[in-house]
Amino acid sequence: MNKFSWYEAKSVEDAVKQVNNTVSEELYLPSGKAAIFKSGGIDVLDLVKEGLIQPKTIVNVRNIPGLNKISFDDNGLRIGANVTLAEIEGNEAVKTRYAALHEAVAHAATPQLRNMSTIAGNLAQRTRCWYFRSSDHPCFRKGGDKCFAKHSETGQNENHAILENDRCVSVYASSVATALLAYQGSVMITNGKMESRQVPLSEFFVAPDQDVSRENILEPNDLITEISVPAPDMNTKSYYSKQVQRASYDWSMADVAIVAQMNGDTCEKITITLGAAAPIPIRAYEAEKIVLNKKINEERATRAAKVAMENAKPLSKNSYKLPLFESIIKQGLLEIA
Ligand SMILES: Cc1cc2nc3c(=O)[nH]c(=O)nc-3n(C[C@H](O)[C@H](O)[C@H](O)COP(=O)(O)OP(=O)(O)OC[C@H]3O[C@@H](n4cnc5c(N)ncnc54)[C@H](O)[C@@H]3O)c2cc1C
Repeated sequence: MNKFSWYEAKSVEDAVKQVNNTVSEELYLPSGKAAIFKSGGIDVLDLVKEGLIQPKTIVNVRNIPGLNKISFDDNGLRIGANVTLAEIEGNEAVKTRYAALHEAVAHAATPQLRNMSTIAGNLAQRTRCWYFRSSDHPCFRKGGDKCFAKHSETGQNENHAILENDRCVSVYASSVATALLAYQGSVMITNGKMESRQVPLSEFFVAPDQDVSRENILEPNDLITEISVPAPDMNTKSYYSKQVQRASYDWSMADVAIVAQMNGDTCEKITITLGAAAPIPIRAYEAEKIVLNKKINEERATRAAKVAMENAKPLSKNSYKLPLFESIIKQGLLEIA
């Protein structure tokens, strides 16, 4: 682990002035003089310990006043960037109005990790693909020229992507993002000129075929200050399920979030999102169309689940993910019906 200096940011303005790189850019093309953001520090410090980044300065944004509040009103939910996953899990409005988000947060990592992990850090963490995390494997995401996981014989790809996996086959690490995307959440970002912009999560994540060096749109100096989620419509029902190998805690093998507005048993609005299916969390648009403005019954739920997996290209060791996703999507649709 390299030595770095520590800067304790006192305000948003102070923080964005100190930083000169993103973790993704530093990892892809090391500058040797990077100053990067750290909130809970779980992912940043893992990357330093793994020898994947050698920052010169770590700018701690964890204690910036005002970024640790969570509130709910008619406009929806606002979660400050430094709110921890444990605080979201314990919030009454989240529990009662955003059941799928609550379920996702409550099943992320361990209680100890949820006490440290901030929502901004969770959304901006890097993939947990074991080839990416090993300094011995120069993969596409680290400026190399191959995807080690994709190899049909040697690739240990049981946890990897089955959709949108033409180049890099890693999956996005945040299972909380799957639920936030289903609720059509947004992130508020402030840049180095102190200009703020709101970015829907549907535009926040970056797929490898757009730019393999990064997983989100954050530029150096871009600080996430808040996550917002619209107020649920009347008669909104939601569902979240995360499938893991170990019951105690684990990264997701497959997770699905569904947020639907129901009129009786007819579905008037729906988002179905899939985590650990592709390199970024994705919407299953074609599956949504099968049930939109229709009654959700066994036959339609089965068909929607099949359609969601229609374009899947499983790798040598993860075809189990197809029936797994199909069964969770079907179960979720029948539960909200
Ligand atoms: C064993 C283990 C199991 C886990 N399981 C899960 C799981 O099942 N589901 C899940 O969702 N997560 C899981 N996690 C992830 C964990 O919950 C943390 O959310 C995550 O590691 C990072 O949160 P952090 O606050 O520590 O971020 P940090 O490590 O501080 O930062 C992560 C990234 O975000 C950037 N960053 C931080 N704050 C900001 C900001 N305000 N603006 C812009 N950029 C910022 C940093 O520069 C860095 O690139 C797991 C982690 C571990 C170690």
